[in-house]
Amino acid sequence: MRSLRLVSILAVGAVSASAIPATKVSLPYDGFKVFRVKTHAHASEVQKKLSNITFEQWNHDVNSHIDIVLAPDQLVAFEELGLESDTMHQDLGASIAAESAHSSLWRRQAGDPAWFDSYHDYQDHIKYLQSLHDLFPGNSEIISSGYSYENRSLNGIHLWGAGGPGKPAVLYHGTVHAREWISTALVTGYNAGDNDTRSVLDKYDFYIIPVVNPDGFVYTQTTQRLWRKNRQPGPNGSTCYGRDINRNWEFAWDANPQGASTNPCSQTYKGEQPSDSPENKGLDKLVRQLRDGPGIKLYIDWHSYGQYILSPFGYKETLYAPELGKWTKAAQMVSDAIRDSSSDLTTFTFGPSGATLYPTTGAAPDHVYSIGRAEFSYTIELRDIGKYGFVLPPELIRPTVEEQWAGQKVLWSLLDEVFFDGEGPA
Ligand SMILES: [Zn+2]
Repeated sequence: MRSLRLVSILAVGAVSASAIPATKVSLPYDGFKVFRVKTHAHASEVQKKLSNITFEQWNHDVNSHIDIVLAPDQLVAFEELGLESDTMHQDLGASIAAESAHSSLWRRQAGDPAWFDSYHDYQDHIKYLQSLHDLFPGNSEIISSGYSYENRSLNGIHLWGAGGPGKPAVLYHGTVHAREWISTALVTGYNAGDNDTRSVLDKYDFYIIPVVNPDGFVYTQTTQRLWRKNRQPGPNGSTCYGRDINRNWEFAWDANPQGASTNPCSQTYKGEQPSDSPENKGLDKLVRQLRDGPGIKLYIDWHSYGQYILSPFGYKETLYAPELGKWTKAAQMVSDAIRDSSSDLTTFTFGPSGATLYPTTGAAPDHVYSIGRAEFSYTIELRDIGKYGFVLPPELIRPTVEEQWAGQKVLWSLLDEVFFDGEGPA
């Protein structure tokens, strides 16, 4: 009866936007190049050669390749290393400028799918949440999952269907890592499928927090496009900023030295203590409230890039949860749905996080499963697999959203399935 309304709630519009000055954003990377260096399972040899030059590394799974950002003054030295590589960005500054070049498209009404044709600034996302709520006032509320270090509210939207709120929770987090803009576009973006939308909203309450690291997100748009962490000052007079909010969760925070860094200057600095970032504290509070209330049916932390669907455990490669069979089966069906829905047969790799990718401690899916008792708990790494990396052109947002929509519909339909004989209630 109200399916169109429900569609537009999960769909996307945009509100007025203030354009990001593209030059300011791209400044630190003008003339920089990004290369995918092939390792062919000889990563340590390649890394040894690379240790002679200065670069920023984008990926941690180095078995087949290492994606590196090079300043102009390093290019000659890099070429002299004679490594096999493909160019991901000829001029990273120009690619970043192109991300935000469509500012004339930014003024959009709620429900207009053109939201997906460009990236948006933080205020836009916040206004967009409000416009969703205004479209559906009786079935939604704006929520806050706490505050950032710079005192921005971690705003989200809580949606419910017939019969009022209080059903088991589907919880989505986006943009914990500031540079992964594409995941923000996704989480605010569901632009298809009316019957499926209605049936899932009648069964579950959705809690969608599209920007869980607002300070980092704003910093990527004003100062440093490739910033990842929050903007908390380092400990004990360190000049480095930022904790990795996704290495800061309490569960297994200190379980594996390979899973995070103790160096405040590292991209994966885990903090001095579990949950000592204000963002993590607030996110964890909502996780525990949902656990102690309606329970968490599904949790997804949306990231980019790499095209992965990853379940617990991250902190130990050899540890397999009893639910791994059903998580893997569900991930396979999601992966199939994504592939079948995309014109270019996009493939997603799936499996337990630590074994499939690399060890991570204090990461969200382990915590929301182990502490939050989520029945399904995933990280999804969106497009791409390394053509553009973190700086995905805006014209690829819409295909990304559409294929994830297809995948989520399949996943929602599986949440109450009994996958295996003898699987009783947990
Ligand atoms: Zn990430």
